[in-house]
Amino acid sequence: MKITRRLFLGTGTAMATVAIAELGKSNRGLAQSKVLNLYSSRHYDTDPLLYNSFTKKTGIKVNLIEGEGGELMERIKSEGANSPADVFLTVDAGNLWRAQQEGILQPVSSSILNSQIPANFRSPQNLWFGFSKRARVIIYNKNKVKPSQLSTYEDLATDKWKGKILIRSSNNIYNQSLVASLIEILGMPKTESWAKGFVSNFARPPEGNDTAQIKAVAAGIGDIGIVNSYYLARLKKSTKAGDKAVAEKVGMFFPNQNGRGTHVNISGGGVVKTAPNKEGAIKFLEYLTSPEAQKIFSEGNNEYPVVPGVPASSVLASFGDFKADSTNVAVYGKLNAEAIKLMDRVGWK
Ligand code: FE
Repeated sequence: MKITRRLFLGTGTAMATVAIAELGKSNRGLAQSKVLNLYSSRHYDTDPLLYNSFTKKTGIKVNLIEGEGGELMERIKSEGANSPADVFLTVDAGNLWRAQQEGILQPVSSSILNSQIPANFRSPQNLWFGFSKRARVIIYNKNKVKPSQLSTYEDLATDKWKGKILIRSSNNIYNQSLVASLIEILGMPKTESWAKGFVSNFARPPEGNDTAQIKAVAAGIGDIGIVNSYYLARLKKSTKAGDKAVAEKVGMFFPNQNGRGTHVNISGGGVVKTAPNKEGAIKFLEYLTSPEAQKIFSEGNNEYPVVPGVPASSVLASFGDFKADSTNVAVYGKLNAEAIKLMDRVGWK
């Protein structure tokens, strides 16, 4: 994710740093319980709606500090005990695991969070919680592939896909989490031989993000691609004619429907260890599981609500229902280092 709108990070932001430090001080004073400092790598147009609605319900004002996930983590660490950060939000369980490993989150005991969010979408230690989910799906060029030819992630290592697969590089957390899930499910030796076959089927050395893979599939550079579901939803909803034309050319397929289900990941967050307003932070996380907030939060990035019973947006519904793999997403972080090493060994660039 890119830093957008409010750039508080990087070089030349001394003024912003001072402002945040002052904010921290004032938060520790009188107004502490009335302000929530949210460090977020989300940057969607609908987010202000979410924050305003929380403020209306609780009287707690949300101060949004946006940035790329890794940079926000570094920032919280460098601010140390004086950090004004109350809540940290980011994408991918792999990143949430990193935040956990960095020691910047604290456990939260909330019966609301525990009852609303399925156990596989939150940290077993209650350090972080998923608030929306995304599926890592197969997309295919409708002129070249019939959905009946597709089945599982495992099948993508077979010779029939030689020179036909498009996917981004191994330094991307989404791919690392997918491989980590396969290590958990299939074991190391099977995952490694799968990855060898899979990489040997690439249509080109990995380049670009998930959107680039969809465009390349539409352009016929490869027949199929692996992407997160929201990237195709985004193109489908786009007002640009070019994007719509790309979305028209590709179909979405949910792998492993006859078995364990499709690999899913989350976007989510937790309460910062040094949160000046811990109570407000917990209230905010609990608010994110309300049906109203679930709808706004998930639709902001064309994701699926994580709370059962909250309907997905119409564009997601148009892709159809699917069975999701129920592996606990905490595994993706736990096996992240193993996944990276494996991808390296098989030459996944
Ligand atoms: Fe993404």
